[in-house]
Amino acid sequence: MTMSSAFDVVVIGGGHAGCEAAASAARIGAKTVLITHRRDTIGAMSCNPAIGGLGKGHLVKEIDALDGVMGRVIDEAGIQFRLLNRSKGAAVRGPRAQADRRLYRRAMLRELSNTPHLTILEDEVCDLAISKHQVTGVESVRHGVLTCAAVVVCTGTFLRGVMHFGQNQREGGRIGDQAAVRLSQAFSAVGFQLGRLKTGTPPRLDGRTISWSRLEPQPGDEQPEPFSFLTERIVQPQIQCFITTTTLATHRIISANLHRSAMFSGAITGRGPRYCPSIEDKVTRFADRTGHQIFLEPEGLEDPLVYPNGISTSLPPDVQVDLVRSIPGLEDARIVRPGYAIEYDYVDPRELTPALETKRVRGLFLAGQINGTTGYEEAAAQGILAGINAARRAGSSTELILSRASSYIGVMIDDLVTRGVSEPYRMFTSRAEYRLALRSDNADDRLTPVGIGCGVVRAPRRLSFETKRAQMVAALELLKGEMFSPQQIAAMNLPANQDGVRRSLFSVLSRPGVTLGQLRARAPALRQISTALDARLETEAKYDVYLERQASAVSALKKADGEMIPADLDYREIPGLSSELKLRLAAVRPTTIGQASRVEGMTPAALTLVRTQSMRARDRRTQFGEAG
Ligand code: FAD
Repeated sequence: MTMSSAFDVVVIGGGHAGCEAAASAARIGAKTVLITHRRDTIGAMSCNPAIGGLGKGHLVKEIDALDGVMGRVIDEAGIQFRLLNRSKGAAVRGPRAQADRRLYRRAMLRELSNTPHLTILEDEVCDLAISKHQVTGVESVRHGVLTCAAVVVCTGTFLRGVMHFGQNQREGGRIGDQAAVRLSQAFSAVGFQLGRLKTGTPPRLDGRTISWSRLEPQPGDEQPEPFSFLTERIVQPQIQCFITTTTLATHRIISANLHRSAMFSGAITGRGPRYCPSIEDKVTRFADRTGHQIFLEPEGLEDPLVYPNGISTSLPPDVQVDLVRSIPGLEDARIVRPGYAIEYDYVDPRELTPALETKRVRGLFLAGQINGTTGYEEAAAQGILAGINAARRAGSSTELILSRASSYIGVMIDDLVTRGVSEPYRMFTSRAEYRLALRSDNADDRLTPVGIGCGVVRAPRRLSFETKRAQMVAALELLKGEMFSPQQIAAMNLPANQDGVRRSLFSVLSRPGVTLGQLRARAPALRQISTALDARLETEAKYDVYLERQASAVSALKKADGEMIPADLDYREIPGLSSELKLRLAAVRPTTIGQASRVEGMTPAALTLVRTQSMRARDRRTQFGEAG
């Protein structure tokens, strides 16, 4: 069938990046089509059935603040919620939830199906239509050419995907799915720099054959905390996970069969995720360890499948049987699906602008694993920004760029487009230099106004955000409005510095151990403040002094990120720059002085040279513009 349709935005791939990209472009009002191999794999989790975690949880909150879908969908499908790092500061806590896979897919499909301006087509895209460095459409196998103003490619692990089961190889994007070979060739034909990366997944077990009673249970939080700022409470029943470990017998089986592992026999050339290593990797790298922890995570409320988190492997299936049976509690466990590794093409993310648009082809955006990242959350976070920018490109609006000071999304994209990747990139809180400001609890304050500004936030969230913000402002006025002497504070039985300085109750709240509940009991005016705001106000107060200290660094960054570099600046002509730096700058082509400062190997002296040349080029352009 040939379809002669004109769309504003075409999104290729219904994985985590594609779902957010399609939904965000459509929310802005762009006529959007999501083309994906199979409707029933929309929102599929290729590997672990969980969303969030350290750093990743922040990304989900930020996606939600921009009215994205991931947070609401996991709230609907989550069957075990845990706040990781609970004992540490609010800035580094990581919300995580285990999902019922089937419920997750179902909720995601329903979200997308109910999104106005969005059409879903089951098909394979095999080529891109490009004219004069501008994308004009895509070619699909069954629907022919679809014209559009912008394309977002979110093809995950599918570009020339090859799956490895021990020494056996099979083409495929993920088990049960075909690879995208022709589309990868289309990228090469345009001249994109492609590389190879790999990742792996563990075997899936039949939960009915596991001896649960012998294992240590791992319950979730008693009060599951939703991801979405809009979700009031979690309604799914909550389950327990269980913990076991590998044994010396397991390690012996692995060591004896390393030559049959795809990862170790040299069959795979691409690099794998350092922070999500295979069990072969762990046993080899940490040879002195007597055991590695495994979390047994049920894949759903009604699903007997169990995901053994920690034993991702590319050993042959027969070795996987011995390996699994050497683990306490799994002696009789049946493998339903063997683990495997997958190798796939990615595009060097230095090919992209910070708006996730390719520099080679205008209107062509890339998001997700195709950019060298790993993880659902990293993919979704890129997807939402790419979708917004594709819709803005189609509507001729200026691009939306998120800075490192605004969000983890900004940190990740800046890392990718400035430094590229040498291994699959995953998010950590340590990647953010302003993490005291980039907390998961204040993601709405940081990003919802940005989302409202670009039309990606719909009315219910806008209303809820504005109501909450008004309540916060009123609460802060109450807390900061009146000043008390140390004697008055001490008389309230609150900690007071006897230094003669008058302080507000907000300042008292910043003291360790002081809660809003204590203040409310002593200052009746504070009873007007809703207890729903307590945690947020306490965090604001405790972080206030640190944020003040960070403010000057943030404003310096904003200044440098606001100083644009002309796109055609010729780095070869800058005298005094090392040839290596010239090459790196020419490859990255930073859009701002801030981004240039983060290019690998940049020094303060070299940055001054770049800034001077950039200013000269801008001045020349202005003179030319005035004369013209
Ligand atoms: P995907 O979720 O892969 O979605 C891609 C979508 O695009 C699919 O729906 C596909 O059908 C569609 N598609 C592809 N090509 C075309 C085309 N030409 N036309 C139409 N549709 C197309 N992540 C981790 O963080 N840790 C891990 O340990 C881990 N292990 C993994 C193990 C395996 C075996 C696999 C396959 C993935 C693993 N991942 C892991 C990666 C995780 O699945 C991805 O990070 C995440 O799903 C990426 O999201 P995405 O949206 O970029 O792509």
